[in-house]
Amino acid sequence: SDHDFKQIDKYLYEIPKTFRADMRVPARFYADPELLKAIQGDRSLEQLVNTATLPGIVKYALAMPDIHQGYGFPIGGVVATQLPDGIISPGGVGYDINCGVRLLATQIEKEEITPYLDDLASALYTNCPGGVGKAGHIKLRPGELDVLVEKGANWALTRGYATASDLERTEENGCLAGADAGKISDRAKTRGKDQVGTLGSGNHFIEVDAVDRIYDEPAARQMGLFPSRITVQIHCGSRGLGHQICSDYVKRLQKAVHQYGLILPDRELVCAPLSSPEGQDYLAAMKGAANYAFVNRQVLTWHIRRSFEQVLAGKIKNHHVYQIYDIAHNMAKVEEHEVDGRRIKVCVHRKGATRAFGPGSPVLPGIYRNIGQPVLVPGTMGTASWVLVGTKESMTQTFGSICHGAGRVMSRSKAKKNIRGTRLREELEKKGIRVRAGSMSGLAEEAPMAYKDVDRVIQVVHGSGIAKKVARLIPLAVIKG
Ligand code: 5GP
Ligand code: MN
Ligand code: MN
Repeated sequence: SDHDFKQIDKYLYEIPKTFRADMRVPARFYADPELLKAIQGDRSLEQLVNTATLPGIVKYALAMPDIHQGYGFPIGGVVATQLPDGIISPGGVGYDINCGVRLLATQIEKEEITPYLDDLASALYTNCPGGVGKAGHIKLRPGELDVLVEKGANWALTRGYATASDLERTEENGCLAGADAGKISDRAKTRGKDQVGTLGSGNHFIEVDAVDRIYDEPAARQMGLFPSRITVQIHCGSRGLGHQICSDYVKRLQKAVHQYGLILPDRELVCAPLSSPEGQDYLAAMKGAANYAFVNRQVLTWHIRRSFEQVLAGKIKNHHVYQIYDIAHNMAKVEEHEVDGRRIKVCVHRKGATRAFGPGSPVLPGIYRNIGQPVLVPGTMGTASWVLVGTKESMTQTFGSICHGAGRVMSRSKAKKNIRGTRLREELEKKGIRVRAGSMSGLAEEAPMAYKDVDRVIQVVHGSGIAKKVARLIPLAVIKG
């Protein structure tokens, strides 16, 4: 009800530990009054409270202003559990392991590209395979997938799909250490083997944007972002491989829940102590899927560069496409954070939430250490998307995390029922936004009106200090699987 939480800051609310007897820590969420109404439209706050009961959770169960209902954990949730015996949960990562966003940029001006935008959109659509279960261009030799999931972006570098500069500008350099192909089922490998460098369907996209406005000049310059220049976003994840790994371990960890006597308020919170064999195996498999997703976005980057070359060579002199950053928004990671004045090791689950480390963090590459980690937050194909940086406050308040998008206000099924894809495409095209989509109902699911106001969501994270606005992007062409 309305009285279960108290406002403790302009954009911060708390549900006290006393709210439910099984809560181990309070729950906190970031919102404004308008977003609060949207958040109360589904079960996400109840799910947030449920996560506050998880064994080993420290400080708070957290939710970002884009929070909405998910599998067990809310999407937009952050849960940190203390090692060694705190839990790890597949539902705290999500089915699309290392779904994430990559931002590329160019020196091309918006006006310069306009005459070629239709051709570019078509080339991107043709070159970047999309659609459910769609295969990519890469044929892996037997056993090569095992190398790929363990080496991540280094595999792409060896194979000529990446540059060293791309890897430097990717979270964890595109490779989580400790991935183990032996912990991934044959079924998952079969599903993933032909999907390297594919977009998938539905919510995943490639989008050509223009920089609309710069908010932090020095940070933007450091990244290579300038007003009215062309950028490209890639949003996708680990495809069938990650999905199968999540399914496999949800099943396996159900048994662990009983074995370790874990009491959970919702079956979907299925988890195991990180120190247990089940927990360790899931972590090693999840890292493999995360590495696969980094490679996937990297190979798509290669296709995007190829497309720019095809369409713009001889027309626009400098059409070089360089990487700004690549970040996961469905991941669990072991990190060190300060809790009650002590630095401890925790497993930070970010599900529909991004890492947002502040300036000075030793894990950031030299190029970004002084400004803080770039954070990429897509909005919708008809509104804006944002680039921010993490802050000192994100480190103390949210385990160095912020939101991952605008967040849904309308379920997929409801959007599909209420919105006509062909009509939506017409409206977008009228606004000058090129649309290339494999399915009109898939397009409808992602309609701008199915999402919260991204500018408002960003104002909440900026206003509360957990991130700082750097640049706002507006869409010119969107490619959907
Ligand atoms: P998710 O990972 O939850 O599926 O999506 C992340 C975020 O991407 C959503 O919350 C939404 O704000 C954003 N989004 C979905 N479709 C599009 C699109 O076509 N273009 C842009 N820029 N953002 C989108
Ligand atoms: Mn995804
Ligand atoms: Mn995603």
